[in-house]
Amino acid sequence: MAFLELANLKKSFGATQVVHDFNMQIEKGEFISFLGPSGCGKTTVLRMIAGFETPSAGRIAIGGKEQNNLKPNKRNIGMVFQAYALFPNMTVHDNVAFGLKVAGEQATEIDQRVKEMLGLIKLDHLADRYPYQLSGGQQQRVALARALAVRPQVLLLDEPLSALDAKIRVSLREEIRAIQQKLGITTVFVTHDQEEALSISDRIVVMNAGRADQIGTPFEIYNTPATRFVASFVGTLNMIEAKVVDPAVNRIQIGDQGVTLKQSVAAFKAGDTVSLALRPEAGSLAESAPCDTKLTGQVVSAHFLGSVIRTRMNVGGNVISFDMFNSPGVTPPQAGETVTLRFMAADLLVIRD
Ligand code: ATP
Repeated sequence: MAFLELANLKKSFGATQVVHDFNMQIEKGEFISFLGPSGCGKTTVLRMIAGFETPSAGRIAIGGKEQNNLKPNKRNIGMVFQAYALFPNMTVHDNVAFGLKVAGEQATEIDQRVKEMLGLIKLDHLADRYPYQLSGGQQQRVALARALAVRPQVLLLDEPLSALDAKIRVSLREEIRAIQQKLGITTVFVTHDQEEALSISDRIVVMNAGRADQIGTPFEIYNTPATRFVASFVGTLNMIEAKVVDPAVNRIQIGDQGVTLKQSVAAFKAGDTVSLALRPEAGSLAESAPCDTKLTGQVVSAHFLGSVIRTRMNVGGNVISFDMFNSPGVTPPQAGETVTLRFMAADLLVIRD
């Protein structure tokens, strides 16, 4: 049985349904990211888990115990928000101690736990400071320590890094992941940043308009996107329109060039249009590149970016981007030049809308 279960969750605000039949089984100790654009319902699902929103339908259970009728403070959940929600008139020590005091813990136990938590976030030396005397990154680490101090069963993180500058964001996300793994705490992390989700999650839920479009490991989400939405939201990807020629043998045509896919197009008829995705890194112009498939087209542009030359070519009306790695002897192709892109047919994915 999963540790955190979300079954057929729905949420409407007035007449507008913002979460549709959301299902997810989260194992103990997993780090799950909800990834999707603004307004897709990530925060609403998180708030339902926390108990700040009541589901219109569906079930939430932690450790087999239904949570739906429990108030937020009875759910044993720790939460960190985007904005630093520290108590401004309390020191770092007292912020971290807050939940323990409310829970009626003994003073010696509180002091020991606060010390342990501040050690975990490496801020022991700042225990007597007030929030205004801390950087944004330090404030979020204190918020994390405060959430973890009460030893919650589940940790919920709602875009905790989005107010920080890029460098701090990267170091703090690695720190969060390390702490999560050390404690083995089941965590749900909301983000709209695909790199963030790919880098720290065990599994990612890609959300689109209140639905989970795909649930998978970062590798699955990136390498085999299930839908056009996932393909376009996660990483840069070439979308190619092709015509089905012979569905029985997975033969398609891109412009006037025939290709045999590894994936099935048996659900299509001859003459249907099928959408395909190709990762920019899957193709190469090098004659030595391993390949079972080639497409010939005209270079539209080639931009030297230092380590790579980002090149775009036109194949039967489809513009396909790929990166050529910079090395001695490599010269950027010229616009208008005819080139041949080599890749493996297995990298050409059939995408559903
Ligand atoms: P963001 O990344 O911008 O925070 P999100 O994916 O977390 O977006 P939600 O905050 O869950 O999205 O919102 C989903 C939809 O529900 C949005 O259209 C939002 O306007 C709507 N919504 C959220 N809370 C309420 C509310 N209390 N009343 C009415 N509509 C709401």
